[in-house]
Amino acid sequence: MEKENNKLKEELFNKKESGYKNISDDEKNKIFSFCDKYIEFMNKAKTEREAVKTVKELLDKNGYINIDEVNSLKEGNKVYYINKDKNVFACVIGKEKIENGLNIIGAHIDSPRLDLKPNPLYEDGSLAYFKTHYYGGIKKYQWTTIPLSIHGTIVKKDLEKIDIVIGEDDKDPIFTITDLLPHLAMNQMSKKMSVAIEGEDLNLLIGSMPYDNETSESVKLNILNILNKKYKIKEADFLSSEIEIVPAFKARSLGFDESMVASYGQDDKVCSYTAVQALLNIENPNKTCICILADKEEIGSVGNTGMESNAFSYFVSEILNKMNVNKPNMIDKVYMNSKMLSADVDAGYDPIYKNVSELNNAAFIGNGITLNKYTGARGKSGASDANAEYMAYIRNILESNNIKYQVSELGKIDIGGGGTIAYILANKGIDVVDCGVPVLSMHAPYEVTSKYDIYSAYRFYNEFYKK
Ligand code: MN
Ligand code: MN
Repeated sequence: MEKENNKLKEELFNKKESGYKNISDDEKNKIFSFCDKYIEFMNKAKTEREAVKTVKELLDKNGYINIDEVNSLKEGNKVYYINKDKNVFACVIGKEKIENGLNIIGAHIDSPRLDLKPNPLYEDGSLAYFKTHYYGGIKKYQWTTIPLSIHGTIVKKDLEKIDIVIGEDDKDPIFTITDLLPHLAMNQMSKKMSVAIEGEDLNLLIGSMPYDNETSESVKLNILNILNKKYKIKEADFLSSEIEIVPAFKARSLGFDESMVASYGQDDKVCSYTAVQALLNIENPNKTCICILADKEEIGSVGNTGMESNAFSYFVSEILNKMNVNKPNMIDKVYMNSKMLSADVDAGYDPIYKNVSELNNAAFIGNGITLNKYTGARGKSGASDANAEYMAYIRNILESNNIKYQVSELGKIDIGGGGTIAYILANKGIDVVDCGVPVLSMHAPYEVTSKYDIYSAYRFYNEFYKK
C-alpha cells in the first residue's frame, strides 16, 4: 500500500530538487565548461559599455552585421543595432512572415554601482578623494573596505573619447572607501543600517602624495598632474565623463565542489550572456528572433538607452523597412503576435534569511531556471502578470526539452518586491513572462549563482528561440 501511495505521489506531486542530483559526468562537464566562458565574459564586461563592446565582438565574429550597413533584409540574415554604446539589439530574420510575431529575449547590462559625481575630485586631510553618487539599489555599507576599480569614458570637448579601466590588471593599483574603526564606532554601530553609511560618505580614496610642499591642495594637484600625463585631461574633463566604480574582484568558481559562480554584476549579465549565447546558436529560425540588452533597468528603465525609450521600436521599424514589408500599424501587429522572455535574475532562497521567503514559492539555487509569473509589490502593484495560456506555452517548451525549472515569487508578500522590463514590452501587447537565474546577495558587490541554473537558462533561451 505504502509503495503504491508513493507511486501516486511521484505521479501527482510537482517535484522540487537540485538539478545536480544524479547528474551525469557528461552534463556536468557541459555545464562547467559553459560557465568557464561565462566567468571570462564577466571579467571583461563589468559595465554596460564594456558589455556592449564584448557582445559586439561576439556578434561580429558570428556573422552579424550593423543594420545601418545593410539596405535589405531577408530570411536568415543577422543584424544588430548599438544604441549610444550602452544598449544593443541583435536579430536573426526568421522563415515565417514577420507579422506572425517575434521571439524576443530581453535582459539588462547595467548593474548597481557607484558613479562619479560631475565634480568628483577633492582633497581633505592631505588625502585625495572622488565623490560618488550610487546607481541603483545598493546597501551602502557593502561598498566600503573592499577593493574597487575605476571604469569609464571621458569625452573631451573636442569629442575625443578616452576609455579608462584601472584596478583590474594585477599590476594596477586599486581604490577603496574607508570605514570607521570599531573602537570609535559606538555611535555609528547604534544607527539603523540604512543610515549608518550615508550616500555622501561613499568617497573613494585615490591618493595621499603632495605635488610639493608649498601649494595648497597639493595632493589634488598631484593626482591631476598624474591624470594629465597619462590621459591628457584636466579637471573640467570630468564634466563630460561617465565613470563607474565597481568591485575589483574577479569572477570565480565558488565552493569546494565549484558548483556556483561568485561575481559582481550577475544581475543581469548572467541572463544577458546566456541570451546572447542562445541567439548565436540559432540558424534559420522559424520566427524572427531578437535579443535585447537594455541599459538603465536598475534606475527604472528611463533615458534614451533604457527600455522605456523608443529605441527598440526604431530597431523593429528598421527591420520592417529593410524587409520591405512595413505599412501603417505593422509594428503594432508584429508586437501583438510576439512572445517574450524578460530575462532577469530572481532572489534565490537564502537559508540564513529564511523568514523573507515563502517556501512553497521560493526560487532555490541549483533547481534550474526560475519563472516569475508576475512581479510587483503589495497586491501585485506594478506587476506584469503573464497569462495562464502563455505560462502553459512556456511550460511546454521547458518540459518537452527536460529543462529543470521552478516558478516563484520574489519573497513573501508585504516584505518587499521588485520589477523588471517586462511591463514595458507587455504594454505593447507582447506576451511576456519574467524568467532567469536565482541569485544570492543580489545587488551586492559579490553575487552568487548556481552553474546549473546558468546552463538551464541558456538551454531554455535556446529552445524558446527555436519555436
Ligand atoms: Mn535585474
Ligand atoms: Mn537589479
